[in-house]
Amino acid sequence: MDIGGTSTVALALDPAGQVEAEIQLPTLKGTQGLLDTVERAVAGLTERSGRDRAEFTSLGIGIPGQIDHELGMVQHAYNIGIDSLALGPLLQERLGIPVSIDNDVTAAAIGAAHLMHLEGTTAYLNLGTGLAAGCVIDGLPVRGAHGITGEIGHLAIDPLLRQCPCGQKGCLETVASGSALTSFWRPDASGHLLMTAVAAGDPEATHALEQLIAGAATAVRLLVLTLDPHSLVIGGGLRLLGEPLISGIRENLDRSAAVSPFLASLEINSRIRILPEDSSAAAVGAALSYQS
Ligand SMILES: [Zn+2]
Repeated sequence: MDIGGTSTVALALDPAGQVEAEIQLPTLKGTQGLLDTVERAVAGLTERSGRDRAEFTSLGIGIPGQIDHELGMVQHAYNIGIDSLALGPLLQERLGIPVSIDNDVTAAAIGAAHLMHLEGTTAYLNLGTGLAAGCVIDGLPVRGAHGITGEIGHLAIDPLLRQCPCGQKGCLETVASGSALTSFWRPDASGHLLMTAVAAGDPEATHALEQLIAGAATAVRLLVLTLDPHSLVIGGGLRLLGEPLISGIRENLDRSAAVSPFLASLEINSRIRILPEDSSAAAVGAALSYQS
């Protein structure tokens, strides 16, 4: 299951990792809402897959927030109304099967590597409401000591020095994320609105898109220099801005390579892949994460 602030995607994987059934339902907030959402999703999958509930051997969940995978703890998942919750143990008790909890971006990284058949080291850059990354090495996620591997959105390096909710100024997330667009461009920002305004020659929209591209390209360079991945997948809702964003990132990377033989030698552009539009990577990765 991929539990997001507004909706939850749930799917059933067969032993070979193929999707058998999939449903989407609204996410109900708070502890009780979250538990009810999961139970309704399980019931829906039982019905759609035609399988007996007892045939489900494990449940994996990808959810925003700081996650302690070992303890199944979710913290700071504010857009779901959760401050701190032992979600894994609670669900395990209710459902009677092992439950694995991961950060949604880590889950998406696992799912993207699986669905796109990527081997070796895969870096996953999520350009969504926030900016964060995940890393998978030969199918296994890197979670880190405190579950914050890949939280590069809070690297403060942008000269605009915009205030970030984390307390710092100039975080990558304040220029290259959906929340940056709503905070610093316009409150009703959407990808469609942005591209329409850019096409109409709106200078503020053009500036917002340029910031987005520059921040995303910086995030790509950061991931390549820290992880040296075989593949770098760009996912998250903002990727649906499509060609203007993707070619903008590629051109930015080309410009930085043009002045640096070192960066040029890294062939960063050739490592980039775009997550397909209809992909349920986070839900697939969450389902697989019980084994990883
Ligand atoms: Zn920050």
